[in-house]
Amino acid sequence: MAFCGPLVVGSVVRYKDLFRKAGFGSSRIPWGVDRMSKRLKDLLSANQPVWSFEVFPPKTAAGLESMYAAVDRLMAFKPAYFSCTFGAGGSTQGPTLDICSEIMRRHGVATMAHLTCVGLTVDALRDFVRQAKARGISNIMALRGDPPKGQEGFRKVEGGLGYANELVALIHREFPDMGIGVGGYPETHQEASSPEDDLRHLKVKVDAGADAVVCQLFYDNADYYRFVERCRKLGIHVPLVPGLLPIVNFPQIQRITSLCGAKLPKALYSELEKHKDDPAATARIGAEHARKQTEDLIRQGAPGVHFYVLNQAEAAHQVLTALGA
Ligand SMILES: Cc1cc2nc3c(=O)[nH]c(=O)nc-3n(C[C@H](O)[C@H](O)[C@H](O)COP(=O)(O)OP(=O)(O)OC[C@H]3O[C@@H](n4cnc5c(N)ncnc54)[C@H](O)[C@@H]3O)c2cc1C
Repeated sequence: MAFCGPLVVGSVVRYKDLFRKAGFGSSRIPWGVDRMSKRLKDLLSANQPVWSFEVFPPKTAAGLESMYAAVDRLMAFKPAYFSCTFGAGGSTQGPTLDICSEIMRRHGVATMAHLTCVGLTVDALRDFVRQAKARGISNIMALRGDPPKGQEGFRKVEGGLGYANELVALIHREFPDMGIGVGGYPETHQEASSPEDDLRHLKVKVDAGADAVVCQLFYDNADYYRFVERCRKLGIHVPLVPGLLPIVNFPQIQRITSLCGAKLPKALYSELEKHKDDPAATARIGAEHARKQTEDLIRQGAPGVHFYVLNQAEAAHQVLTALGA
């Protein structure tokens, strides 16, 4: 997710040590192989709303433990899969596969490993997907990624790829069994020359072999419904999964939305501002807004909701519990 940057900038730890310290061992897969090996398109074809949760690689052993504790709690909602980000905002790229493997080992649930083209040659990208496949990870979220910190504009490395659609094509061609997710932007990607161009580029990505589009976070469902309508008109027929980030902290959400370009509806913004010095009220307002969004999305036929949980279970847990999920 583009906005994870400030939360996880810089890598100061060796992940192998972290996993050992946190008591997590090999990535053997003891059970649930059928469920774990499902591709995105099969996971999303259920006749009921599909929940999924996105985590990011934490920087410390304590962070890793608390992330797994969040995953444990969220299992109560029988998620279709967990996804783990890759190098978001310049964070370390290494542990994504380890985290996916560990979640599969502990819970027998499917995972989706994110992968970006940032700083990687085609050989390195291919190698990542090969490793993911060897570990039984059945889905890759194929992304271009954001420019590294301090660099203006995305530049592909020599022997690398310039857009996500090229990564999708590579995976689809060389790993035909791998499920592929791509990012979609209900409020238009910040670098796009126009909303129309952005959608045309999305169609190229989907036509290259993506199974589903996972949307950037948004706080006004009308943006998502318009996006769905415009995608369908253009001939994009894969599932378009809404992405929600329940607000828990006002300064954090201001930073995140300014980074990814999502807007907060006026009424929600003023409500949050009124209570900006009261963290409990902020979390209550955030959870209630996310509950209303989720309820409405499901009622209007969205395939499910992908929650950006920022490694904390509480907000998504409240939302889904309130909905009786
Ligand atoms: C669900 C989700 C998860 C994410 N996870 C991560 C993560 O784990 N790590 C991370 O670093 N980032 C992550 N991101 C952020 C993502 O990397 C950024 O938003 C990035 O700026 C764009 O990636 P993309 O794959 O959408 O790029 P692209 O689809 O390649 O699009 C990038 C821009 O180029 C334009 N474009 C696309 N194709 C062409 C073309 N052929 N010619 C001209 N212009 C074109 C598009 O309109 C867009 O403006 C995530 C985003 C989402 C929505």
